[in-house]
Amino acid sequence: MANLELRSLGNTGLKLSSVGFGASPLGNVFGPVSEDDAFASVRDAFRLGINFFDTSPYYGGTVSEKVLGKALKAMGVPRNEYIVSTKCGRYVDGFDFSADRVTRSVDESLDRLQLDYVDILQCHDIEFGSLDQIVNETIPALQKLKEAGKIRFIGITGLPLGVFTYVLDRVPPGTVDVILSYCHYSINDSTLEDLLPYLKSKGVGVISASPLSMGLLTERGPPEWHPASPELKAACQAAAAYCKENGKNISKLAMQYSLSNKDISSVLVGMNSVKQVEENVAAAKDSPCLGKMRKLCQRLKRIKTGENQNGLPVQQN
Ligand code: NAD
Repeated sequence: MANLELRSLGNTGLKLSSVGFGASPLGNVFGPVSEDDAFASVRDAFRLGINFFDTSPYYGGTVSEKVLGKALKAMGVPRNEYIVSTKCGRYVDGFDFSADRVTRSVDESLDRLQLDYVDILQCHDIEFGSLDQIVNETIPALQKLKEAGKIRFIGITGLPLGVFTYVLDRVPPGTVDVILSYCHYSINDSTLEDLLPYLKSKGVGVISASPLSMGLLTERGPPEWHPASPELKAACQAAAAYCKENGKNISKLAMQYSLSNKDISSVLVGMNSVKQVEENVAAAKDSPCLGKMRKLCQRLKRIKTGENQNGLPVQQN
């Protein structure tokens, strides 16, 4: 069978697997995950061609970083064969994007991950901080960490798409290497598409996370804390049932939808079992079922809620 596709990440020179391993579930964010399952998922992902692993000190209050670090170490493969991204500025006790905090944060993350460097360090959910502080203080601090060899590339993450242009329009070209957007390139919301030409023109790599809209596009449904409206949750469950009746799995269609745009370097999906890893890799390798996907998109896009399409809070900046 063909290998999992590798895609270039902006101007970084990195080649990321089209399916990336989102490690927030390893922090028990979507329910408890045993260390055995976590290790097996990471090992299986790497065996099947996934070379990109994303975490954050925020996920499970540092649990995700610790478990991912142990799992990667247990694989015993050379460090340059996998790409790790983690984040700074968001913690269980709140946000702090000051130069001092993010500088300490990187050392703490490296310690938990048992690594000498991370490939990508991202300012985590910048809409909750001051964007001017990100531009004038946080990113310059990360540049020093880059010079010190602790991180290779700098990224920013957030939900409202406007935060990316705000920052990228204000930093010197080449300073921010990567953006990570979530819940904006999935069957029920593909608004990231409009921003892709701009990002390409800046040479910024694009990672798109949450292709299953954080559990909405699964047969099991989203976790309790999911912020979508009851209408959207019900519509996604109806869509999942519709797919099942037609012999399809909504998560597979959702993965294939997100993977279909090659300007997105990696689709980061949260995984906590070998079964999910194998299903998501298979989704990337099988030919997409375009007709079904289009029908599903039309159905879900018809749903109007008072919020944005994921039911997540709309940006205030
Ligand atoms: P997701 O859309 O990837 O959904 C994850 C949920 O779907 C989990 O419950 C998982 O167990 C389940 N799942 C995965 N594969 C499945 C399959 N084949 N069938 C059925 N269920 C399946 O949402 P996510 O985990 O929030 O996002 C993916 C990753 O992206 C995160 O783990 C994180 O690394 C990253 N992320 C980053 C940010 C940010 O930086 N602000 C935000 C969101 C996500």
